[in-house]
Amino acid sequence: MKIASEYVNRLVRQEIRDLTAYHVADPGEMIKLDAMENPYQLPAEVTQECANRLKQASLNRYPDPNAIKLKQRIMDAMSIPSDLGLILGNGSDELILMLMMALAGSGRPVLSISPSFVMYKISAISIGMPYVDVPLQSDFSLDMQATLAAIDEHNPALIFLAHPNNPTGNRFSQKDIEKIIEYSDGLVVVDEAYQPFSDYSFTQDISKYPNAVLISTVSKMGLAGLRLGMLIGKPEWVDELEKVRLPYNINILTQVIAEYALEHKHLFDKQTQAIIADREELFQQLQQIKGIEPFPSQANFILIKLASADANQVFQQLKEQGILIKNLHPSGGLLTNCLRVTVGSQSENSSFISALKEIVEKG
Ligand SMILES: *Cc1c(COP(=O)(O)O)cnc(C)c1O
Repeated sequence: MKIASEYVNRLVRQEIRDLTAYHVADPGEMIKLDAMENPYQLPAEVTQECANRLKQASLNRYPDPNAIKLKQRIMDAMSIPSDLGLILGNGSDELILMLMMALAGSGRPVLSISPSFVMYKISAISIGMPYVDVPLQSDFSLDMQATLAAIDEHNPALIFLAHPNNPTGNRFSQKDIEKIIEYSDGLVVVDEAYQPFSDYSFTQDISKYPNAVLISTVSKMGLAGLRLGMLIGKPEWVDELEKVRLPYNINILTQVIAEYALEHKHLFDKQTQAIIADREELFQQLQQIKGIEPFPSQANFILIKLASADANQVFQQLKEQGILIKNLHPSGGLLTNCLRVTVGSQSENSSFISALKEIVEKG
């Protein structure tokens, strides 16, 4: 009798078998500060109207394959220049994969920085594209000399720059980003997942470059459950990417709700402003804990480094007290002894602070 693993070992590529699946912890009843979610629900009037609109959705029909109304709403809400094209994804994760599907095959790699968003690497390997990364400097700024040297050496087809970066939370110098775009012979993707929490957007600059596109998402601003990401770029890029997009990738429930929610973008903007203010307060409170170094953030999370306490242990003890954050220590390198906490509601933040203080100062 043959067993499944014999087939698997023969048929699944070695590099896939070597991957670890993107790990998402089960939060149970814990205070959830691990995944950069917005802690706030929408006001009841808004959710009520969402429910009304969903009632009218024709679930027996395929959704609008081009999501025309939703795209128009996004163009307005994000002030996207009208000479640029827009393509939607089932989360920006899907757009990352689509970019790779379109550009794979030449043997040229995907290049990113480290530490950064892990899906760049996982998706590159899944697609069969080589992946290289260039370590950031110890203050998490771009190492321009190493980055340009890596571009010379590897001639990447695709370069991903998360900006602000995850999990470090910082922005890069705009001049450096522009230099990378100008220096590269490949396509540079600026990933603005955390743009709502930052004081800068690349949106108005994309038109200047023949080889840059921007990806963004509604996830971090408060609609993670919808799974909706967008790519903005010159029509020449968007037209090609359309060819690898699965038909109907944005389901009707997402289309209906996102369209309505973005009519009320001011409500999300208000929440975003509150999260930014709470981030600054959380940062100051973290600074006051002995043995904790928080790094300034332009996102809705803060990276912290522990001076002497063991990050694995602190993570575990927080978990035992019902608080789930992200342990980055296993990634090693610049993330050794680092933890990442999402900015939650004020009461979640203060539960986190008192638990952390207790653990680290007693520890
Ligand atoms: C969260 C995140 C994404 C993925 O966003 P989705 O739209 O939810 O798929 C993309 N890039 C970065 C840097 C992220 O942190």
